[in-house]
Amino acid sequence: MSDPEKDIPRPVIDENECKGCGRCVAACPKKVLRLSGKLNRRGYDAAEYVGEGCIGCAACFYNCPEPYAIEVHGAREKEGKE
Ligand code: SF4
Ligand code: SF4
Repeated sequence: MSDPEKDIPRPVIDENECKGCGRCVAACPKKVLRLSGKLNRRGYDAAEYVGEGCIGCAACFYNCPEPYAIEVHGAREKEGKE
């Protein structure tokens, strides 16, 4: 049997690429992102996942202005994707 954990959607944040703008926090329909309150290497308050509740909608990814700060593993496929 495959590993069930693998298919559970979750955001993966590179805390040192995050600028702490909070757009992902505001965009998340499930309110499962927050600013961590810990400064990253660049001095920004990086976003973090609360650990459960993500539905894989990828709103966080699409609202993040930083290209490498956040991605969603196990995201739902979107129409129009090549
Ligand atoms: S994929 Fe959707 S539910 Fe999951 S953290 Fe991002 S915005 Fe929230
Ligand atoms: S939108 Fe991107 S840069 Fe802004 S807080 Fe979220 S992960 Fe960080």
